[in-house]
Amino acid sequence: MANRKKPTEPAVTMSWSQQSPIDLGKSLYTPDLPALSFNYNVTLTGVYDEGHNFIVDLPETNKCNPSGNPPPPVATICYDGIKCPLVKIHFHGPSEHSIDTVDADLEVHLVHKVPTFPEAYPSAYIVVGVFYDKVASKSKRKVAKPKEFGVVMLRHFFNSVATGKHCVDPSVFVALPNYDFYRYEGSLTTPPHSENVSWIVLKEHNKLDSADEIAVEKDATESARDLQPVNRRFILRNFK
Ligand SMILES: [Zn+2]
Repeated sequence: MANRKKPTEPAVTMSWSQQSPIDLGKSLYTPDLPALSFNYNVTLTGVYDEGHNFIVDLPETNKCNPSGNPPPPVATICYDGIKCPLVKIHFHGPSEHSIDTVDADLEVHLVHKVPTFPEAYPSAYIVVGVFYDKVASKSKRKVAKPKEFGVVMLRHFFNSVATGKHCVDPSVFVALPNYDFYRYEGSLTTPPHSENVSWIVLKEHNKLDSADEIAVEKDATESARDLQPVNRRFILRNFK
């Protein structure tokens, strides 16, 4: 009997029942979830500003240093025994995920590529979501529906370097007292909405203070996708 041929392109299963973002309010305490760790103690020097996305250059693509210069540094997370490089950073304002229908003022998405997809891990990406609150508006965080759209970019964390690219210290986005998190299986929140994303949304919120320069780009009308049905999924959390 012949073995089945492996697909040449990783298949993305689209059931349209595992879409993101969702409300994370009804979660299940699961104490034995794998721990999450950040290896973010590097300054990334090969970051492209693509308007709404900051794309991180990786050694294998190494577009910044085609002439054999040292490869750009890499920031990684380790989750479930897998080391995944940070490949993309972008922001949503207000947050895409909510807790008991309460939005945060901003959500940063730290997109990590899973190197063992699809052979050994079912998701192509592990995206870490981190909420931000404006200090002044803490008491009225509940955002009326429909959401007011707008992309809020924390551009002042990204500095130009001589190559024309940008550098960033990614640890500024995860400078939090702990890494308690919500965890579920979902999708990209922008087209093609592929259902190949493992989501980790941190419980602790960052603070936006008045020193943060926030530029709102009014032309970006899809910056926070509407909440999607949870359907038959479980939302897990690693904290009581
Ligand atoms: Zn996003």
